[in-house]
Amino acid sequence: MPLPRSRVVTLNAALGPLDYRVPDGMEVVAGSVVVAPLGPRQLLGVAWEPERLPTEEIGDNRLRPLASLLDVPPIAAPLRRLAEWVADYYLSPLAAVLRMILPSSSALEGARQLTEYRPTGHVPERMTPQRLKGLAALEGRQGTIRELAAIAEVSDAVLRGLVNSGALEAVVVEGDRPLDCPDPDFAPPDLNAEQRAAAASLSTGNGFDPILLDGVTGSGKTEVYFEAVAACLRSGKQALVLLPEIALTEPFLKRFEARFGCPPAAWHSGLRSSQRRRTWRAIASGEAAVTVGARSALFLPYAKLGLIVVDEAHEPTFKQEDGVQYHARDVAVMRAKFEDIPVILSSATPAIETRHMVELGRYREVALSHRFAGATMPTLAAIDLTQDPPPRGRWLAPALVTELEANLAAGEQSLLFLNRRGFAPLTLCRTCGPRFVCPNCTAWMVEHRLMHRLACHHCGHVMPPPKACPECGEEDSLVACGPGVERIADEVAALFPDARTAIVTSDTIWSPARAAEFVAAMEGQEIDIVIGTQLVTKGYHFPNLTLVGVVDADLGLSGGDLRAAERSFQQIQQVAGRAGRGDKPGRVLIQTHDPSAPVIAALISGDVAGFYAAETAARREAAMPPFGRLAAIVVSAEDASEAEAVARRIGRAAPEVEGMAVFGPAPAPLAMLRGRHRQRLLVHAARVLDVQDVIRDWLGGLEWSAKVRVAVDVDPYSFL
Ligand code: ADP
Ligand code: ZN
Repeated sequence: MPLPRSRVVTLNAALGPLDYRVPDGMEVVAGSVVVAPLGPRQLLGVAWEPERLPTEEIGDNRLRPLASLLDVPPIAAPLRRLAEWVADYYLSPLAAVLRMILPSSSALEGARQLTEYRPTGHVPERMTPQRLKGLAALEGRQGTIRELAAIAEVSDAVLRGLVNSGALEAVVVEGDRPLDCPDPDFAPPDLNAEQRAAAASLSTGNGFDPILLDGVTGSGKTEVYFEAVAACLRSGKQALVLLPEIALTEPFLKRFEARFGCPPAAWHSGLRSSQRRRTWRAIASGEAAVTVGARSALFLPYAKLGLIVVDEAHEPTFKQEDGVQYHARDVAVMRAKFEDIPVILSSATPAIETRHMVELGRYREVALSHRFAGATMPTLAAIDLTQDPPPRGRWLAPALVTELEANLAAGEQSLLFLNRRGFAPLTLCRTCGPRFVCPNCTAWMVEHRLMHRLACHHCGHVMPPPKACPECGEEDSLVACGPGVERIADEVAALFPDARTAIVTSDTIWSPARAAEFVAAMEGQEIDIVIGTQLVTKGYHFPNLTLVGVVDADLGLSGGDLRAAERSFQQIQQVAGRAGRGDKPGRVLIQTHDPSAPVIAALISGDVAGFYAAETAARREAAMPPFGRLAAIVVSAEDASEAEAVARRIGRAAPEVEGMAVFGPAPAPLAMLRGRHRQRLLVHAARVLDVQDVIRDWLGGLEWSAKVRVAVDVDPYSFL
């Protein structure tokens, strides 16, 4: 039904809904994407049902006409309902959610043809250092001038110079090239009996059907949910697969192509704007049959969504930590609910929250209890560092070194896991003792020897490693304390000079292309020992990888965060799951100072159920999630006293509500972040309480200066 007037939510979060006149001949319906004038500006917005967004009516005489209606399908009702739910649940402006639905203005109205540039191989006569830097960085790349300038970190002018001298050439890219269509019957696997039963059980779902696909590492969860994707394709609907990490995209695309004959559409932050436009439009038109993406793919306007899969659903990276602070796993379930379709949460180590939903009977569980093709589960053993310590200044215990040596001799691959980037987490002066801290954050500067820098992992601040202590002036008095992956790599190089090693962290694997190189090198047996952070715990399948060493199992247990034990357990189980996935058995050695700690004991004995039961009981006892609710209110400002004053005011205004307690304000553990001082309040409420409503009323009644930011994190995962 065309509306004579239209209520529009713009993408500007500072504005409420606005009413406009619909000009003659413009067919605007709820969900239409429109351009609305405001003062001298033109704002992008979405037409909404007026009754769902009450606002002050303005008279016909004051209505301005909409400027235009964009030639894209209207945002459908289920996605509009999801946007409202997300805004409401995560206490965010609807406009901020709409920006995730319409993240690319070029997708909406950009040119159909784009000019991109790529290197020709020709070396210009006049070479400047900037030109040299640009050409070196752009090998094998293609993009618009602006994208290439960002990749190479040189100015547009340098690139224009390279174009004029013939070192870069223009390529015209069609914005709307058709996508390949995956074929559900291209190469279906021969499923074993357990997998077949699981796949059949996944495919029977009609309507909203949340399923936990719970299978041990290497059991073939991906193959099994691919059958659900195939069924979705056969019914002519679109499927969405969410991955926790952009680094996993490339191996996933390959695997998908082997099964379905062509790669799916990919959606992540690394897309060029031409790819972004093409993918968004293919998703909105229904042409993109399968999309694989990071959490942001969840908000795209699929024309006919039939299935959502959340792979490695327990991963904390599904939690968005800035802007709208949503949890993609939970939003995926809500989207499936509004779309009335099945959603599969796949994991070998499901979150307590997810298991609880199974116990309540809200989610179905489909289990795979065996590794595929007779591969056995790896054996786990602890190395007690108090009994068998490494030599001074080293981090690998003799027992682990012996195993590494044996594995090298056998020509098999090993993985050392330490969740710490860089060389050393802390640098101090031996003479006067000060530590290097970030000027913008309450955090130590981490030494990165490969980059010759000290870096802050919170704000990215870097400095060259100083020769002398800035406090006492003593030369060569600075010592690196503790290990990071680079230091372990040094130790491995000293122990096994001939071993070929690779460091895998977000510093070395920062793009899907780099991840693909790593996978190829592993598969080509060009690497003997991988030293990596949590990045290597996920999804990878390397049949010749048979030994995993956990360098410091105690690391994740410090800090006392609500989920510390659960997360450590998941992380070590996941990394252990990389071992022995082929026909050779795997073994896992866990270095710890306390083998009797419940997490370690449960890992060694394999008592997963017992561990989860104890953790769940402890959460229930303390009324912690999922048995109670938490919300964090973080107040930040450049001025410490301003942040403190507003936080105290918020604390004093806390309403007395039965079943709710407010803790703080107190300085956040990260008391300063990116130059802003932070105060934190924690709200703990009973499950039944509508805590969002309480917080909305509570904060809605207060005002603060624009210099102070107040962010609410509902269901927080980070307690920093
Ligand atoms: P998970 O996701 O449970 O860790 P994967 O789906 O990655 O397990 O499967 C592990 C390995 O076994 C992969 O290389 C996969 O291709 C292979 N695999 C699993 N099931 C089958 C099958 N039925 N036929 C052929 N290969 C399979
Ligand atoms: Zn910092």
